[in-house]
Amino acid sequence: MDQIATVCTYCGCGCGLLMEVQDGSVVGVAPRREHPISRGKLCLRGWNAHEIAISPERMRTPLVRKGEHLRPAAWEEAVDEAARRLREVRDRFGGQALGVIGSARFTNEEDYLLTKLARAGLGTNNVDHGAHFSSSASLKALQKALGWGAMTNSFSEIEEAEVILVAGSDTAEQHPNVAGRIMAAARNGATLIVIDPRRHQLARAAHQFLQPFPGTDLAWILGLANVIMSEGLLDLAFAVSNCENSEAFAEKANGFPPERVEELTGIPADALCSAARTYARAHKAMIFYSTGLTQHATATSNILGLANLALITGHIGRPGCGVNPLAEHNNSQGACDMGLLPDMLTGYQPVADRDVRARFEKAWGVKLPVAEGLGMFDIMSAIDAGRVKGLVVVGNPFLSNPDAHHLKEALDKLEVLVTLDMFGSEATEKADVVLPGVPFAMKDGTFTNAERRVQRVRKCVEPAQGERPDWQTLCRLLEGLGVRADYGSPAQVMTEIASLTPIYGGVSYERLESDGGLQWPCPDPSHPGTPYLYSDGFADRRACLSAIDYIASGETPDPDFPFLMSIGRSQFYWNTSPMTRYVSTLRREYSAVFLDYPKGFAEINQDDAKALGVRDGAVVKLVSRRGELELNAMVSPDVRPGAVFVPFFLREQAGFLTAPGFDPEAKMPTFRLCAVRIERA
Ligand code: SF4
Repeated sequence: MDQIATVCTYCGCGCGLLMEVQDGSVVGVAPRREHPISRGKLCLRGWNAHEIAISPERMRTPLVRKGEHLRPAAWEEAVDEAARRLREVRDRFGGQALGVIGSARFTNEEDYLLTKLARAGLGTNNVDHGAHFSSSASLKALQKALGWGAMTNSFSEIEEAEVILVAGSDTAEQHPNVAGRIMAAARNGATLIVIDPRRHQLARAAHQFLQPFPGTDLAWILGLANVIMSEGLLDLAFAVSNCENSEAFAEKANGFPPERVEELTGIPADALCSAARTYARAHKAMIFYSTGLTQHATATSNILGLANLALITGHIGRPGCGVNPLAEHNNSQGACDMGLLPDMLTGYQPVADRDVRARFEKAWGVKLPVAEGLGMFDIMSAIDAGRVKGLVVVGNPFLSNPDAHHLKEALDKLEVLVTLDMFGSEATEKADVVLPGVPFAMKDGTFTNAERRVQRVRKCVEPAQGERPDWQTLCRLLEGLGVRADYGSPAQVMTEIASLTPIYGGVSYERLESDGGLQWPCPDPSHPGTPYLYSDGFADRRACLSAIDYIASGETPDPDFPFLMSIGRSQFYWNTSPMTRYVSTLRREYSAVFLDYPKGFAEINQDDAKALGVRDGAVVKLVSRRGELELNAMVSPDVRPGAVFVPFFLREQAGFLTAPGFDPEAKMPTFRLCAVRIERA
């Protein structure tokens, strides 16, 4: 049996795996012992990653709409029809009437071609990607505070840290391999602080566990800064020489003494002080966070607050330190790096910069649009308002959109909808042209994991007859829109990316052949890559301490809706389960573990369950101001009284429950928290 080295297609850890191939078919997966991240370990999802390649539910035939119905078409016919329909809208209404929503599951090369498709092919900067709802706040906040919107440090440095602070991340479910490293570090002497409304697996392993009321994160973040300042635990020399805006920052933090934070969050004042002292006094301390902090109306402020903590203590610019967002998807970072953003070209080069545009115009041979485009959130509103009339969608936007009802109605208003995805969805049902995608095992390319590591993804088996790899579909679409795209391979696409993107300047397939890949910035072919950022300070600027106002996130409970429902993750169903739902082994394992909760579960505090007369496993109805959802009750001591937890793989249903309101800077909806009542069903 052949074993082909590639990278897992699920979360942002970027574990290396060996795809086992026999007689031209993928038959299994084995771990890569020498891989720098996974080091011979894979989680349940990784061990079954081959199943996505052989899923019988995958779409294989392109479809073209004729009246009410979609009919099968040859690949060439379907792509040409998509180009023709998009051209029509572009020529009639201009590029601003079109949009592209790319994917954080695609390779860098495919995402680059999508950026090119939007800007050069359609003449629009209305471009974003499906992971917007998990990554946009980190991107905005870390760029503003530090410079780069990415993890500052590397997973391998977890072993060096004296203190590891994890907030808003159910790491064992979301990023199991990183959780394994953190637990090992905690066993070997590091102090683990976990701050989360729910006592999850990592929280149970923590030395200090702080359990705030849901939606009060900004208060404990400001409270930690308050204790660090009032007790003189700052690294004053570092802060003075590297940071600006310190007075405004200090004024806000001064208003959050531990006693006030206790009132707001329920975290005992002495526990908050203890965590602040532990974090600040450490020589090396890392912060990790994920969607528990970023999918809120206060998302940007939450992350700015964490950056403040690292800056005032000097826990940045050194190994074993930093502020580290755990990216959700295999290529969340890469999708941003490749310019699937309305205001940036590849490598975070501003669209508004004339010199940047001139270099891309020369390479692509077309004039590029100047005006900043619309992101995911605004594209949907513009479709609803009739301003955007044509859309190219990769993946299923229904799974991650906070308002699935509204989105469904909006898509009906489009003049042309082109989808590219492996599986059928509500979007493909409404599409005019459906282009089937292929799984990662049939692709050559690269993914960039959460720690900025660019790694090779290798084709393990050929696409079946009639199928094409996605990069070829995008090239033909580009040619159909009048843009040259005669690349011979994804390697040639990467050569072009490197030539136009300074942080990828030294990345090439030759260099990526060896295990481990390269971490950007990697500006030239002799550069070894950058495991941690800001070792030389903050380039030509100073870091920015942020003055943050406290607001609570989420809906306020009232007598009709007295509980706060939050959503989270399940290791069996990665993310909104766009792929794992098609993996029969994961479905089977979930059923085996959660025998008592066949409908999925709502975790309810044991005292609340007693008061409501709800037994473990009983069917309950969660009713919000917008809809209702039936689940099995999981009675547990791990959520606070007044809180309810629902895992995220039931996203389609939970979407009808999620509260309105959003973070104005990151355009991040209030995914996490809505007020509900619990009824016995
Ligand atoms: Fe794949 Fe993430 Fe599991 Fe690693 S931890 S095997 S990248 S799903």
